[in-house]
Amino acid sequence: MITPLLGSSFIGYSRSTGTEPCGTAVQPGTGSVLEPVYHSATPDEVERAMALAAAAFPIFSNRSAADRAGFLRAIALEIEGVIDDVVERGMLETALAEPRLRGEMGRTTGQLRMFANLIEEGSWVDARIDRADPDRKPIPKVDLRSMLRPLGPVAVFCASNFPLAFSVAGGDSASALAAGCPVVVIAHASHPGVAEIIASAVIRAAKLTDMPEGVFSVLYGGGRKVGQAVVKHPVIQAVGFTGSRSGGTALMATAASRPQPIPVYAEMSSVNPIVVLPGALDRGEDEFATAFFGSLTLGVGQFCTNPGLVFLPAGKGDGFLAKLKSLVEAGAPGTMLNAAIAKSFVDSTAAIASVPGVKTLARCSTEAGQDQAAPAVFVVSIEDFLKNPLLQHEMFGPATLVVRGTLEEIESAVLGLEGQLTASLHATEAELAAHSGLVFALQNRAGRVIFNGFPTGVEVCNSMVHGGPFPATSDGRSSSVGTMSIFRFCRPVSWQSFPDAALPAELQEANPLDIRRME
Ligand code: NAP
Repeated sequence: MITPLLGSSFIGYSRSTGTEPCGTAVQPGTGSVLEPVYHSATPDEVERAMALAAAAFPIFSNRSAADRAGFLRAIALEIEGVIDDVVERGMLETALAEPRLRGEMGRTTGQLRMFANLIEEGSWVDARIDRADPDRKPIPKVDLRSMLRPLGPVAVFCASNFPLAFSVAGGDSASALAAGCPVVVIAHASHPGVAEIIASAVIRAAKLTDMPEGVFSVLYGGGRKVGQAVVKHPVIQAVGFTGSRSGGTALMATAASRPQPIPVYAEMSSVNPIVVLPGALDRGEDEFATAFFGSLTLGVGQFCTNPGLVFLPAGKGDGFLAKLKSLVEAGAPGTMLNAAIAKSFVDSTAAIASVPGVKTLARCSTEAGQDQAAPAVFVVSIEDFLKNPLLQHEMFGPATLVVRGTLEEIESAVLGLEGQLTASLHATEAELAAHSGLVFALQNRAGRVIFNGFPTGVEVCNSMVHGGPFPATSDGRSSSVGTMSIFRFCRPVSWQSFPDAALPAELQEANPLDIRRME
């Protein structure tokens, strides 16, 4: 390991001297404690991180897009320099396998470079120009020009299930930095060592590219204590979060109760419904069950896009269910990210199984070991499903609930679902055309609608929407993946009657950055 682990927060360019322990990493599956002990940032240090972020904001947000792009690319390079450290520590802290961690590393550095390219190209600022017309009657028209500007310092909560791509230098941090916002990260207790290695890389990149101190801080001490203090702090102007519904809604409440309420972009729970029409079953029920099982059990089901709810037409799909049963029974338990998540899987599947009308179709024949989850499938009629809102709750892990009803009942049930990150339809093109009401219902409830595919596997690109109505996210107008995610950390500003030289380059008459503008 080339990165020494000190167990302390990053307060701008210095390290915390707090001595209050806040935990150690624990290896899932064995319960072994991993050195070092981590220590909470002190209240004074939180205050200092805030003051540094506030001081960095005007400097950082006014640095050229090329400078900020250089910073993002430097972070990617510094992370690549410690990839073996990250993988070694990540496997111990998260039980994720090496290929998954290396893949997630590629996604993380890819996101940083994607945002570097986006801001360097420049058109994302949505520049709009309405030129003055002094001769307009009855009143002259003033010169008005607008573009997006960064909100200010952003708090980012690391996600347990994406220790890289949604943690210290993940999508929330990358999009906020790209927008011009300093970032204060709250490390997740589940992978503190990975957080420290990545934080060291980001700080090296900030120094190498001459960024102002305070552009980036990483705080240990937990979300409930340090994270709450950060979200309450007047310097913070927005929050990025991926995790539980209870955590996300607690942060929404904190943010809303501030003297100045701020936006919280929380990605929380989603069961990602899949609607199967008869034509899809006619193509081969075994093949469909095998593909579904692959999506259900990918990464021990620990993806926010895991397919946790399936609507099956009544009287159809017995072959699909029989094959799914055999796959689940023959499947293997997998070690989860931490003991709490494994316990939560056991509790949530037990809660679903105990609802009147729910039958257990299949459970894995191999018993789950320490911190493991074993695949499970439950079945319920649509009448019983509609009676109990608990059946819409996420079972975070490799478990799903199959609901059987008529197509009319399914369409109406989909319209009544909670907000989702994704909704998938398996059908023929003729069925697609014949069920426009169902397609509307799916699109109305989800951020991404999928035809004949599975929700796991989230492409990082311009047109990805990883969002959706509550409780999938706290604000369904946004995406937390892809270039669209930058818009969460900006607001539009108009300049009225400013002299050309005093305008941001993006709005100047000669368009010196040569960006796309509405004029
Ligand atoms: P979590 O409990 O929501 O924790 C995520 C982060 O939020 C942690 O840093 C935590 O800090 C903080 N937090 C939690 N409650 C808070 C509160 N009231 N105020 C301030 N900060 C708070 O999520 P998790 O630990 O990653 O996993 C727990 C469960 O969340 C899982 O079993 C799963 O059901 C769900 N989950 C869902 C997704 C998804 O994408 N759908 C992803 C991850 C997890 P502390 O350490 O202080 O608690």
